[in-house]
Amino acid sequence: MFVEPVMPGQRSGWIEVICGPMFSGKTEELIRRVRRAQIAGQRVLICKPKRDTRYSESEVVSHDRKAVESIAVEDAREILKHSEPVQVVAIDEVQFFDYEIVEVCRHLALKGKRVIVAGLDMDYRARPFGPVPYLLAVAEYITKLHAICKHCGALATHSYRLTDEREDIVLGAEERYEPRCRICFHMGNILDFGKREEQ
Ligand code: ZN
Repeated sequence: MFVEPVMPGQRSGWIEVICGPMFSGKTEELIRRVRRAQIAGQRVLICKPKRDTRYSESEVVSHDRKAVESIAVEDAREILKHSEPVQVVAIDEVQFFDYEIVEVCRHLALKGKRVIVAGLDMDYRARPFGPVPYLLAVAEYITKLHAICKHCGALATHSYRLTDEREDIVLGAEERYEPRCRICFHMGNILDFGKREEQ
C-alpha cells in the first residue's frame, strides 16, 4: 500500500500515478489518498475530465459509489486556473486528457504541489492509453493495481470490451467491460472478435 513519503529534507512537489485496468480500484485509491491529505489539513483540488459523466458532474465517484467533491474541467490547462490555493491536486480518469496534461502535471509538481493522477494504463485493445505512459515516465511514484479476471480468477491487467464497438473511447462499466488476465483477454479477442486481431 502506498504510504506518503516522509524523508528528512523531503521537498514538496511530486507526481504519483495510480494505474491499472477497469475495476481495479483506482478511484478508491485516489479517494483514500485525498481523504488522508484532507485529514492532515491540506487543501485538495480534485478534477476529472468533463467527458466522464458516468455518475456525477461534480463528484468523483468510484464503482462502489464512494464520492468526493470534484470539478469537471474542459481541458488540462483549466486545472492550472483552479490549483493556485491548494497543496494537493488529484486528477481522475486522466487517460481522457490530451498530452498537455503531462506538462500541466510537471508544472504543478515544480510549483511544490503533490499531484496524484489515476487512470487506465491500457485501452480495450491493450495499447498504452493516451498520455498515461508519459505520466508513468515522469512520475516519482507509480502504483499499478490489478483487478480479478472474471473468467479464471487470476490477477487481471486488461479491460475486456464485451461489445464489438470499435471506437477508441466508449464510456461504460459492467455492461460493457470486464477485467481479464492476459491469457483470457487474448483468448476472448480471438474467439469472440476474430476481427479485432486484424486491426
Ligand atoms: Zn483469466
